[in-house]
Amino acid sequence: MQRLLIHLIAALGTASFGWSEIKMEGAKGTLEKGNQRFAEGKAIAHGWQQGIVNKTGALGQTPSVAVLTCADSRTPAELIFDMGVGDLFVCRNAGGFDTPEVNATFEYGVAALGVHTILVLGHTKCGAVTATLAGTPVPGNISLLTKALEPGIAKVRQEHKDLSKEDQLNHAVEALTRYQMLELLKNSALLQKAHAEGKLQIMGAVYDVETGRVRFLD
Ligand SMILES: [Zn+2]
Repeated sequence: MQRLLIHLIAALGTASFGWSEIKMEGAKGTLEKGNQRFAEGKAIAHGWQQGIVNKTGALGQTPSVAVLTCADSRTPAELIFDMGVGDLFVCRNAGGFDTPEVNATFEYGVAALGVHTILVLGHTKCGAVTATLAGTPVPGNISLLTKALEPGIAKVRQEHKDLSKEDQLNHAVEALTRYQMLELLKNSALLQKAHAEGKLQIMGAVYDVETGRVRFLD
């Protein structure tokens, strides 16, 4: 019944999210519309959870879109894109970067679940990127994060050294997002093959934690 209601709402043009129903060519538009609803305080996905929980629990998951983003508490992908249970296959760590485990997770999503779109989502005011840019020593295992993020932002430190810290950070977030898009492919023959065959697209975007808006990169 809940699915019927969602289909009805989608047919009326007021919603375009939905469990396993995001088409490859329409993925960006669907995400953009969801983010628009979220940023305008018109989110609707989370009112329908119970019916979808029952269906996905019984029938399994078939998410179409995977997201690599930061562990930052301000970047919950399902909220930002007004998506519900069963819609997004999400990996998060501080900074939002590829690791063997993240890469394997996305391979699983593409090979076994039918994921056709991977979105790398950076965000403004990222603490992990800020710490990496600063280059000052960090305690404990946190250095694993800054070491992993450094290659993606090293050029920014060189090329934009005259900019303010805030502008440098914005450049670094975008550079890191683009870098991670390439890393996901570089580190996976399986993802490369799917990409070459037109079965996988990789997108990048930056989320503004102050406005709630997502800006897709070219
Ligand atoms: Zn962050």
